[in-house]
Amino acid sequence: MFLSLNQQETNGIRMSNVPIKMIARLDETLCNGCRLCLPVCNFNTFLWIRSDNELLLDHWACNGCETCVTTCPTEALSLQPRVKV
Ligand code: SF4
Ligand code: SF4
Repeated sequence: MFLSLNQQETNGIRMSNVPIKMIARLDETLCNGCRLCLPVCNFNTFLWIRSDNELLLDHWACNGCETCVTTCPTEALSLQPRVKV
C-alpha cells in the first residue's frame, strides 16, 4: 500500500504526519462548474482554469477532510482510497 506523509502548513493549519489514506476524486461528467468547492478547501487543492472552465484537483494537496464532498451539490466529488500512480 502507498501512503503519503503530508507535513505542510496550509492556510495556517499545520498538517500532521498521519498517513493520508483517502482523498477526493472528481468526476468531471457530474461537475457543473459552480465552484462551491474551491473556497471550502483549506488545503488549496482545487484550481479553476478560467480559459477552459475546467476544475483541477491536486491529489497530493488533499488530506481527505471530506468538506468538499459534502459541499458539492452534484455529487461530483467523492472520497476514494489513495493509490500509487
Ligand atoms: S462543487 Fe461540485 S459541481 Fe461545483 S465546481 Fe466543485 S466539483 Fe463541480
Ligand atoms: S477532501 Fe478536504 S482537503 Fe481534499 S479537496 Fe476536499 S476539502 Fe480539500
